[in-house]
Amino acid sequence: MTATRQYPMQITIADRELRLRERLRDRLELAARLRCAEHGQQVIAVSIHGRENGWFDSVWVTCCESLEQQAAGIVKERC
Ligand SMILES: [Zn+2]
Repeated sequence: MTATRQYPMQITIADRELRLRERLRDRLELAARLRCAEHGQQVIAVSIHGRENGWFDSVWVTCCESLEQQAAGIVKERC
């Protein structure tokens, strides 16, 4: 039997005001718990770049587009 290693989602947040991490904490936790129905993988990493007025860009590293869309759907583009 092969043990499946759990990789916790790697989170990088670049935000001048340092508030995004706090505001996104619950959403990121949910996204980290997602598992791809097709590949059985969890989200590998996300980087978040803060912009003006609570908006931010997120870049995801996932096994496929479908998992990325689920994750991005949870962590939307505005706080
Ligand atoms: Zn997948």
